[in-house]
Amino acid sequence: MRKEVAVAVVVTTAATVLGAAVLVRQWKRRSERRWRHGQRILRKFARDSATPVAKLWHIANQLASDMQEGLMSSGDHSNLSMLVSYHAPLPTGEEGGIYYGINLRGTNFLIIRARLDGKNEPITEIRRKEVPIPSQIMVNPDSTKELFDFIAIELAKYISVHGETEIARDKKLGFTVSIPVVQAPLSSGVAVKWNSLFVDDTVGKELAKEINQALEKHGVEMQVYAVVNDTIGDLAGGRYYSKESVAAVTLGMGTDVAYLESPQQISKPLSESPKSGETVVNLQWANFNSSLLPLTEFDVSLDAQSTNPGGRIFEKFIGGMYLGEIVRRVLLKMAQEAALFGDCVPPKLKTPYLLRSPDMAAMHQDTSEDYEVVDEKLKDIFEISNTTPMVREIVAEVCDVVAERGARLVGAGIVGLVKKLGRISNKKSVITIEGGLYEHYRVFRNYLHSSVWEMLGSELSDNVVIEHSHGGSGAGSIFLAASQTQNAHS
Ligand code: ADP
Ligand code: MG
Repeated sequence: MRKEVAVAVVVTTAATVLGAAVLVRQWKRRSERRWRHGQRILRKFARDSATPVAKLWHIANQLASDMQEGLMSSGDHSNLSMLVSYHAPLPTGEEGGIYYGINLRGTNFLIIRARLDGKNEPITEIRRKEVPIPSQIMVNPDSTKELFDFIAIELAKYISVHGETEIARDKKLGFTVSIPVVQAPLSSGVAVKWNSLFVDDTVGKELAKEINQALEKHGVEMQVYAVVNDTIGDLAGGRYYSKESVAAVTLGMGTDVAYLESPQQISKPLSESPKSGETVVNLQWANFNSSLLPLTEFDVSLDAQSTNPGGRIFEKFIGGMYLGEIVRRVLLKMAQEAALFGDCVPPKLKTPYLLRSPDMAAMHQDTSEDYEVVDEKLKDIFEISNTTPMVREIVAEVCDVVAERGARLVGAGIVGLVKKLGRISNKKSVITIEGGLYEHYRVFRNYLHSSVWEMLGSELSDNVVIEHSHGGSGAGSIFLAASQTQNAHS
């Protein structure tokens, strides 16, 4: 009797062990299958995102010819509208004195004060004050007047505390706007005007008139010459430092380019004929689109579910607003189809735009042995815990593919622009880049620089100098104020 029990026990234990072994084997096989499927998703994504040099050149050439076309037609036929957005002398590098600027951003503005010493000497004594815009002004559709009154009052206060006792009568106030179109609250009347500023430079002049009335009313003895997009301010900054400065690129949340064009190249009708000075064209390259772009299924769905489907396609590859979102979409597919994070799909991974580019950059640039930063970010952002180092490595790899593609496309865009200007083989060109993405995402910046180097080779790449902008956010308004003041003297 006892024996039988013993035998039975042995038999059941053996069966359990056997069953467990089968389960473990099945589980292993299943997880290997999933793992391989995950690898396949990643490889396909990397393949679809690839940007070999030949492809970059095709894209650069396409951009150059679209630019040409946009300068000739009045906009409907080319995907680049090539807005002539500023005719005025830009800095010579000789400007000196204390200058003031306003940089209007989404929900706040900066008052900036800085000193220039001429002779291309660096900008110094930069002071910034960030002023939040009261929400009743932001939401009121007819509130430009209130906004300008508010700015004038704040500026008057600032000058009375920090300012010079006397400001020359003909001093200009630089005024730049850097509201990314995607961020502006749609209901706001101010946003509608700002958005149209990106479409028409006469709007900028009108706005300047309104601002000047407010400045006068509140006793500020400065005048705004024109309200411009801040990329133009960055170009002005580039010109102060170098005559070879030909373009400025904004690379933050969104992206934009302003460059110097010779008026003879522009054959489409203009709202006003270029006066003396230089002609700045806003490329609006966020809108660049081409079948040559390395589009993946993730870009297609991102675009379709965006607030502007079909619009600003180039920006959706390179803007800081989108990079993390592309990564999230790839990870979500790997979680759903290959159980990257275990049997359940982490719910937070389904939240659009939850992964921001600074966090993506931190994961991407994680050099710790076990990807501890990736581990921490996955926990903090998506509440995903218990990941293995192998899984974390995959996450970092996805970030790498997205950042590399975006950065190399920016490089191709810059080469295309310089090619359009006919400067690649015989002239030095300085390109100023401003924006958090370029400034803070080191690997992105490195990929950008190396793509230009790969495209041009060691000899020609010396002709294209890419620099970080001087003076930081909003400083372009100072350089505009300086050149406009100088202009007023002459
Ligand atoms: P904006 O377009 O709002 O003027 P900025 O030029 O200030 O933006 O840059 C902010 C953007 O830069 C952020 O939205 C983000 O996309 C990107 N960014 C900022 N810091 C980092 C970082 N450390 N790593 C990667 N991207 C960053
Ligand atoms: Mg910025």
